[in-house]
Amino acid sequence: MHDYFSSALAQTDPAIAKALNQELARQQTQIELIASENIVSRAVLDALGHEMTNKTLEGYPGARFHGGGQNVDIVEQAAIDRACELFGCAYANVQPHSGSQANLAVFFALLNPGDKVLSLDLAAGGHLSHGLGANLSGRWFEAHHYGVDRDSGTIDYDQVAARAKSVRPRLLIAGGSAYPRILDFARLAEIARQVDACFLVDMAHIAGLVAGGVHPSPMPHADIVTCTTTKTLRGPRGGLILAREDRWRGKLQSAVFPGVQGSLHTQILAAKAVCLGEALQPAFRAYARQVVENADALSRSLQESGIKLVSGGTDTHIVLLDLTGTGLSGSEAEALLDRANITSNRNPIPFDNPNPGKWVGLRLGVSAVSTRGFGAAALAELGRVIAGLLMADDSTRDARLSDARATTARLCAAHPIYCG
Ligand SMILES: *Cc1c(COP(=O)(O)O)cnc(C)c1O
Repeated sequence: MHDYFSSALAQTDPAIAKALNQELARQQTQIELIASENIVSRAVLDALGHEMTNKTLEGYPGARFHGGGQNVDIVEQAAIDRACELFGCAYANVQPHSGSQANLAVFFALLNPGDKVLSLDLAAGGHLSHGLGANLSGRWFEAHHYGVDRDSGTIDYDQVAARAKSVRPRLLIAGGSAYPRILDFARLAEIARQVDACFLVDMAHIAGLVAGGVHPSPMPHADIVTCTTTKTLRGPRGGLILAREDRWRGKLQSAVFPGVQGSLHTQILAAKAVCLGEALQPAFRAYARQVVENADALSRSLQESGIKLVSGGTDTHIVLLDLTGTGLSGSEAEALLDRANITSNRNPIPFDNPNPGKWVGLRLGVSAVSTRGFGAAALAELGRVIAGLLMADDSTRDARLSDARATTARLCAAHPIYCG
């Protein structure tokens, strides 16, 4: 007999419990190099699994549409206050269910259907929520893109300025998912000003680096900033909308609710508050410093081993490999690393083939392994192992794979997660 309020999942639903346990074991024994992933604290997990999930609530603290919201009010206000303190802004909306939802709400707040936006091209590292044709942002708005310079792999700001002058967008967007370099926010803000566009920075990937003081903040330059609480910020799945000034409050509040969302994900709000609280601690700054140090170590080691990197290196947690010299596609490289228990993802590189099966990029990120305690020496070793795998031929591949698996097992055992 199961008791509804006390039986554990393993008793009530063994099939799902088994998949969850296997997932935990996978995370414990694989090296996670997907740049958008991280490893949340036990405290964040506690909030995510809390009974607060039962509470339905719409609206904002002090202006709710249901009773019984006093405890969620405490949580939401704490999340707002912490976000404002952490990023130095006057306005924070902590309700977006994801980064894409945060961006959608900004589009809804600032634009009318058919309005023009100008954003980083997907192949150059942009994000689908910035105007991809298959996404609502590209279907209902007129999206134009800027790219990167073919030789340097970095944004050519003169080209952005020229595009902005010819397109005359209402919204200029900076930020992306696979751009490894620091962006010149001041220059981009100036370009937006010259064409009377609003300037949105989507710092989804780098929010934790900004919070940790190892990456310049877009806050002094952008009209609005969006981000996820996952990725480098090391929190639950969800989004934030931030603004230096309070002048967008009315539009942004109503764009999130009732514009694009209904009730709150209350327990996720609690987890967001916890992760923002963690990011205000000195230990978070040490983590952020380690992330950039580790990315640098990985990037140097890969290059010393003969692997080409887009933009020749990194300023962030992201290292984007250009596999053209290896003869492998991105998916082949991803599958090969997977066999060594190293998780990564194929990615386009600038000017890549539009067919995902033919992409020749592999994106790596070091946030999760940094959280796990890997240091620069481990990342340098990983770089050599990965380069060895990518450049192996039929006569060397099997031996290198078994060496790589041994390295993975040793490093994971030396830096355990969620044990006890
Ligand atoms: C990850 C990411 C998002 C989207 O986040 P989701 O929570 O997956 O919707 C938005 N913008 C950028 C630049 C991202 O990297």
